[in-house]
Amino acid sequence: MYDVIIIGAGPAGSRTAELLAKAGKQVLVIEEHTAIGEPVQCTGLISARLMQIHPDLPKNVIQNKIKTAQFFAPNGAHFSLSVRSPTLVVDRQKLDQWLADKARKAGATVKLGTKFQSFKIGPENILVTTNKGNFLTDILIGADGPLSNVRKQAGIQARYHQQIFSQKTITGKFGDTADLCFGGAYFNWFVPISKTKARSGGPSKEVTFKGDSGGVMRYGLLKSAQKDDVYLVGDAALQVKPFSCGGVVYGQIGAKCLAKAIIEGDDYNALWKAKLERPIRRGLIFCKFYGLPNWAKNLLFKIIITTQLYKKLENLDMDFY
Ligand SMILES: Cc1cc2nc3c(=O)[nH]c(=O)nc-3n(C[C@H](O)[C@H](O)[C@H](O)COP(=O)(O)OP(=O)(O)OC[C@H]3O[C@@H](n4cnc5c(N)ncnc54)[C@H](O)[C@@H]3O)c2cc1C
Repeated sequence: MYDVIIIGAGPAGSRTAELLAKAGKQVLVIEEHTAIGEPVQCTGLISARLMQIHPDLPKNVIQNKIKTAQFFAPNGAHFSLSVRSPTLVVDRQKLDQWLADKARKAGATVKLGTKFQSFKIGPENILVTTNKGNFLTDILIGADGPLSNVRKQAGIQARYHQQIFSQKTITGKFGDTADLCFGGAYFNWFVPISKTKARSGGPSKEVTFKGDSGGVMRYGLLKSAQKDDVYLVGDAALQVKPFSCGGVVYGQIGAKCLAKAIIEGDDYNALWKAKLERPIRRGLIFCKFYGLPNWAKNLLFKIIITTQLYKKLENLDMDFY
């Protein structure tokens, strides 16, 4: 019998587990894969806020630091932004493993190779069924990513937009500049991870992608990420930046809100929405840019470049704009 069962040992699940275990809760994390952080479904471009959230972040998790980002219009016109504090490029597998280790050290149990199948709410507790047997818990958390089965089974309604991405690792000579190209339905990226390797990717039509990494992302604003004693966090709760589909920092923020809500009996939706609702709504408005025809995108770039508006963008917090 557990106080809390968390489905998914991604960054959001592990962080929630760590915080709850530190507060003395009996926590079980259930992860379907046999190794944490596999397969990698991320570029690893994460703001320096990650280091504020985790001042003890090990150096070997960070592969590179991006100092400049170049934004390209469909016609090739571009501007460069020097980022306020260098954006991190992290090794997602190492980050996920480190976060899961922190959860274990705090006292959580992490069961690998165990696939969540269903749950049933009883009068006393929740029965969770997996391919490795049944478990009882007071609280169930779905941290099971964008395609969340917990969300589906809890009947939590989600209106979302979906992107499918494909990504390759390429070799060459690279520095500390990331390129973002806005010629298609979303954007294509090129992110150096070292002096000789970079990750290059973008939207893809196929769910079965041809790159060496990729995946589905969903974004939108959930009305509620809770139903009775079932909660959602991270991608499962659509805690994702709409304009870039970055979800690691929002997932860490969501995890802190959820742990506080459970420990102190607060309203989870009120907590995470106080932090994330406005930036998500703003991001959804910015996403209308992707639907514009190329001539309109080119015109907007021209205005940003000729008025030097891009210099103002340098001062914006990339997590919330
Ligand atoms: C191609 C690509 C590039 C990206 N690049 C960036 C980036 O540069 N920066 C950024 O911030 N974000 C990026 N993202 C998004 C980022 O990867 C996610 O936001 C982040 O992983 C969300 O963390 P999470 O813990 O919520 O979910 P996840 O990391 O998806 O973890 C969910 C976990 O649940 C497990 N799980 C799922 N179903 C079950 C089940 N039934 N039983 C047991 N376990 C289950 C999964 O195996 C997984 O380990 C990218 C996404 C993609 C697809």
